Amino acid sequence: MANSLGNVNIQPYFLKTPDRYMIDQERLHHNEAVYAYGEYSFFFLFWGIDDFRAGIVDRCPYCYDSDGGIESSIADVYGQGAEALCPYCYGTTYWDTTATALPGLKARIVRPCMWQTTDETHKKVAQGNMTEVSSQVQSISDFRMRSGDFVFRADKTRWRVQPRKTDIVISGFQAADDINAMIGYSYPEVRLEDPTSVAYQIPPDTDTGQQILNISTVPNYPIDFSAYEIINGPLIGGAFANTPTIGPSFEEPPSS
Ligand SMILES: [Zn+2]
Repeated sequence: MANSLGNVNIQPYFLKTPDRYMIDQERLHHNEAVYAYGEYSFFFLFWGIDDFRAGIVDRCPYCYDSDGGIESSIADVYGQGAEALCPYCYGTTYWDTTATALPGLKARIVRPCMWQTTDETHKKVAQGNMTEVSSQVQSISDFRMRSGDFVFRADKTRWRVQPRKTDIVISGFQAADDINAMIGYSYPEVRLEDPTSVAYQIPPDTDTGQQILNISTVPNYPIDFSAYEIINGPLIGGAFANTPTIGPSFEEPPSS
């Protein structure tokens, strides 16, 4: 006879409890490796359509007007900003009206990271000769970048994030998400941006940024970069990072 447990009698009736300590330990090892062999970089996290839908951000007042002018007509027709190189929202069209600094960014943070760059490849394309450089980047686990975000390296180069790889450890029976199972993120392919890219419009300027990032390791402990950081939104955002809502309790029968 079917019941709410289904055909459970033909299966081993045991659900293993996840080992929470395992996640914390793995995250720690992972972060330690990055601090041991990495370097500091700036990470620029952008607002996205999900933040806009959630009502956290508005449209950019500089390139995505809704005043009925020509720029707003362009925005309506194409569903994008009138300026791809908008120096305020950096082309995303999103704008945090409550932010006190850099409203066009979700966050600007400095984190340690490890780079593994490939050699340049030269390509002949319609625009002429192009040089392509890509790299892998790995950083610590307290933030998550999305494709389209930028990284600013101490050698003055700026890079665009492509896909992200989330490393998780499943240690028991659970609905796994970034909070309870993630041990780190890596970015298997970030691409070097051309100097004309909007990536280079995001402050700090390249020389200042290099001075901030290119530090001596003495006195051999992590440096506080909070003076250079701006955090306007959650560093791990998106559906998977949300705390799951608790389902209806079995003690309380549903009211009918
Ligand atoms: Zn804009």
